[in-house]
Amino acid sequence: MADASARPANGLRLVMLGPPGSGKGTQAEILAERLGIPAISTGEMLRRAVDSGSALGQRVESIMASGALVDDETMAEVVRERLSRDDASDGYLLDGYPRTLEQADTLAGILEDSSSALDAVIFVDAPEDELVRRALARQRADDTEQVVRHRQEVYREKTAPLIEYYEGLGLLRRVDGDRSIEEVNVGIREALGVSG
Ligand code: AMP
Repeated sequence: MADASARPANGLRLVMLGPPGSGKGTQAEILAERLGIPAISTGEMLRRAVDSGSALGQRVESIMASGALVDDETMAEVVRERLSRDDASDGYLLDGYPRTLEQADTLAGILEDSSSALDAVIFVDAPEDELVRRALARQRADDTEQVVRHRQEVYREKTAPLIEYYEGLGLLRRVDGDRSIEEVNVGIREALGVSG
């Protein structure tokens, strides 16, 4: 990643990692727009599938409503198909994937198949109290506090191990998410070494 600023920014392949309520979705959209790469949110893709009433949507609706994770195999299909589209051929920012170590393995396989590699994993963190407060504040109409708390538990158990995994690969860039949207955004760009 040391040479990120020397490369065209639109060549970057990035992952945005962070607990529910960390603001990573907002940051993913701002950053992707700046870098001219698509922000790919698996949560958004699944919500659209639910809204459209597709077979996928019907399969995942109740799982999503409970705050649990959709199974790794289904997610592998969704992500493999999305990353094979033209607009993702020259970089992307994944938001909400991978969320398990198995998904990280799948992503590594997809990258290997296309002879590409991740440039960085941005980890946006904030204190747990603040996360629960924010997640409750922006909960969707049908989310109960129980669902919001369940999402935090699922994150701790299934997703948090990815922090160490990507740290071990030298890809992790930690950013303090307990600041204003603009400050976090600047922090992310500094961590990536992209100017502007
Ligand atoms: P999000 O908008 O990223 O919080 O995702 C909303 C919901 O979609 C999650 O609570 C999961 O039920 C499901 N989901 C999104 N991305 C994934 C993923 N990578 N693996 C499993 N489930 C996911």
